[in-house]
Amino acid sequence: MKLARALRRVMPGFAALVLMSTPLWGQTRPIVIQGGTLIDGTGRSAITDAVIIISDGKFQEVGKRSDVKMPQGAEVIDAKGKTLLPGLIDGHCHYRDWMGELYLAYGVTTCPNISNNPVEWIIAQREGVRSGSIRGPRVWAAGNVIDGPPPGGAGGLRRQRTSIIVESEEEAKKAVRALAEKGVDGVKLFERLKPQVAKAAADEAHRLGRPVFGHSLDIFTAAEAGYQSVEHSWSVLYTSIQDPKKKAELDDARMTRKIDTAEAHVYMEPAMFDRIIRVMVEKNVHWSPTWATWFRPLSIHAPEMKRRELTLLKDPRLRYLPSYILKDTESFFSKYEKATPEKRNELMTGYKMIQEFVRKFAAAGGKIHSGSDPNHVVPGYAVHAELEMLVEAGLTPLQALQTASINVAQAWGKSKEYGSVEKGKVADLVIVRGNPLQNISDTQNVEMVFIEGKVMDTSYHPDYKNPIPRPIEDRPEQ
Ligand SMILES: [Zn+2]
Repeated sequence: MKLARALRRVMPGFAALVLMSTPLWGQTRPIVIQGGTLIDGTGRSAITDAVIIISDGKFQEVGKRSDVKMPQGAEVIDAKGKTLLPGLIDGHCHYRDWMGELYLAYGVTTCPNISNNPVEWIIAQREGVRSGSIRGPRVWAAGNVIDGPPPGGAGGLRRQRTSIIVESEEEAKKAVRALAEKGVDGVKLFERLKPQVAKAAADEAHRLGRPVFGHSLDIFTAAEAGYQSVEHSWSVLYTSIQDPKKKAELDDARMTRKIDTAEAHVYMEPAMFDRIIRVMVEKNVHWSPTWATWFRPLSIHAPEMKRRELTLLKDPRLRYLPSYILKDTESFFSKYEKATPEKRNELMTGYKMIQEFVRKFAAAGGKIHSGSDPNHVVPGYAVHAELEMLVEAGLTPLQALQTASINVAQAWGKSKEYGSVEKGKVADLVIVRGNPLQNISDTQNVEMVFIEGKVMDTSYHPDYKNPIPRPIEDRPEQ
């Protein structure tokens, strides 16, 4: 105030502007959302007839209507018949410049990039969203993946062309430091790193306060190295195979595309599940199955999923989406529809084994992430497809919702501020019609989305444009 008074004396006009703009910015009317059912993301049971008070971008009060004191002059939103969810956090995101509207429309308020490149571009997206110049979800960024040299015989791995290849512990640490200096929030390690090199990279990332996400052919090693999360159902598949020769052959067959990821799952060895789960839970290694990509055509929800996806992808307002998504979506579903009964049976056997792992892992207290992994599937939407599949596998809707909120925030070390609807946390919130506790598909009926207490535009605009286009070809990414 002393400064303001001094300024007013010397520059009356300027001081008035500063004085006016500061309080106006900080003191918007509080928002009261009342009458809905709240699933807060902590795992607690839902609160019916809930009241949430938002101001200054934070949840100020959260509770039952009878327990919360209403503020004066608030803007009131009636949420009767609706359900309030924490802003969804995609467990496995690879952000592209065209994804912003899709994410918002599906209630995804944070997109943690498991990997992305160029690293400067994803950092620029993060800052652009932060400053309000890009309309899209909040970005958390990991950069290029760090990997070891490709195995002999498997051919040049196309996916490694943007990777940072390291062979020694020193090189690995240097690569981590370089990414951290560029400002990444997390580090992604790949499956070709030698165990001691992976460990050195993870240690360096942790020393710099960055979480580690990894591909892994051996979760025991990943757990030993202290990874926060292991990505993809195939990590469990390979870890479960006990004969090293069999494992190497299957790895090679998948890398050279003699077999696809879904097909490979029939070789899982469920006898190993308990051991894998014990170690993951003990070391708090989370897991992103990213199984919607490969297995949703086998879900009990498949016909409805296909209908929804094709309707969405043919929406004229989304004509700016890259054409490969529609093509991939159609071909994924038709591949399964055209499969012989024997083939379908084999795929179903793999799906059932992964379902069993999901169920046992969650029952043991393991933390799952639901994620889009948007190579072949609609980003944002795919998070909801995974929620449906988790409930199908036996999780409760409350558990399922944690996989797209608090679990992910915990892995990224950001659960103090994000991931649940609790007093003092950042006000990221989704209002949906219906009740996901009765029908998990209701999470898709997104009606309103708040990021930091601000209502977001969740509609599609054919002229949606990202002011910072990604400077390289769109895909692939792992
Ligand atoms: Zn991925």
